[in-house]
Amino acid sequence: MEKCSLLIENATVMTDFETVEKNLDIAVYGEKITAVVKHGERDFSAKKVIRGKGKLVMPGLIDSHMHTGQQLLKGLVLDAKPIIWTRVMLPFESTLTPEKMRLSAQVAALEMIKSGTTGFVDAGSYHMDAAAEVYAESGLRGCLSYSTMDEEGLPDTIAMDAKQAVKETDSLYDRWQNQGNLKVYYSLRALNSCSDHLTQLAAGHAKERGAMLQAHMNEYQGEVDGIIRREGMRPYEYLEKMGVLSSRFLGAHSLILSEEEKEIIKKYGVKVCHCPFSNCGKAVPDTPDLVQRGIFPGFGSDGAAHGGLSLWNELRIFRSLMNIYHGVPNRNPKVMPAELLFQMLFEGGAAAIDEVGQCGRIKEGYKADFITISLDTGRLIPSGNLLHTIFECGEAGDVRDMVVGGKCLMENREVKALDEERIRVEVENYMEKEGMNQ
Ligand SMILES: [Zn+2]
Repeated sequence: MEKCSLLIENATVMTDFETVEKNLDIAVYGEKITAVVKHGERDFSAKKVIRGKGKLVMPGLIDSHMHTGQQLLKGLVLDAKPIIWTRVMLPFESTLTPEKMRLSAQVAALEMIKSGTTGFVDAGSYHMDAAAEVYAESGLRGCLSYSTMDEEGLPDTIAMDAKQAVKETDSLYDRWQNQGNLKVYYSLRALNSCSDHLTQLAAGHAKERGAMLQAHMNEYQGEVDGIIRREGMRPYEYLEKMGVLSSRFLGAHSLILSEEEKEIIKKYGVKVCHCPFSNCGKAVPDTPDLVQRGIFPGFGSDGAAHGGLSLWNELRIFRSLMNIYHGVPNRNPKVMPAELLFQMLFEGGAAAIDEVGQCGRIKEGYKADFITISLDTGRLIPSGNLLHTIFECGEAGDVRDMVVGGKCLMENREVKALDEERIRVEVENYMEKEGMNQ
């Protein structure tokens, strides 16, 4: 008898982005998967067993770019006039308090767990300690940042100089790096909000600690043009000149890229991700070309204010966008096949959360970050190709169980560490009190 802490018994398993196998047992010991074998092939004695019948087990979804601090803006951004960042997001974030952040993180954690997202990167906000406490308790695998910028004219509550801005991340790092499943990333909010001094300082502190550095990159034409005007070169060229690029840099969005910038991303092994629904108002990336160069972007939600945190929607929006923009003109219906999109989600996502070769597969030695999907709902049967059906028809509501680092965060849709009912009442009361529920 082999001992294990958790056994998923006789399930259908999407072991990676292109393989679905039936009748497998998955054994977990501690935080890792210790065996994936044919049902009954080995004898396990498990502390806890999840029956796999009627379920698909698949790697947890990874949100490579979200904003806890914008969680309460859900429903308040759609159809807003540009530029949303200066008109809506920035004024709202400048009013954040520890209380708002605690509530935002609770609602975000619930939404992620219930939609199957096991890991995420927060692009950075304020009062991050309050969010970190909630995320540590939730058990999610989270990479957190402090919103870092030093441009002139910011609201008083969030205005700071370069030294102070980086110091905030230093403190966050000291308190939360490797606490539970949390990591801390250094960040540059966007290049046009950061001075040369801040860019170098944040990059230097990240390097000293071996931490990741992230920034919003090449998202708007106006932002790219602004850097060209200020620096006489494009955003990634500027970062290369500043010496801050490496495989420990995550460039969110990365939509409007020159040939030279794509080569720079490749050369340094920079990690990138797209946020399809949010990006639709900005630009269409040339992802087929990135993939051809061996660059696999992950997917992000860009926070709940852009269509919620479910990545199921993002995958299909992206597939549709790629087909109409790159597939149809080239008569190529397979410009973004489901297998490739899952590869981007799992492997691009694992890269974004700095877990390459550790997360994103159901394989011996990998971290036990996975979800189960109910297969006995009408929408998923019958299916001639389960991987394609899950891609086309899978939804947040189909997720039944979630395991992160070997721990059960949700069982049969019941979230373990968070009080769902209490949080719902609290956030609705809050929205009412603030007059935010039109
Ligand atoms: Zn963002």
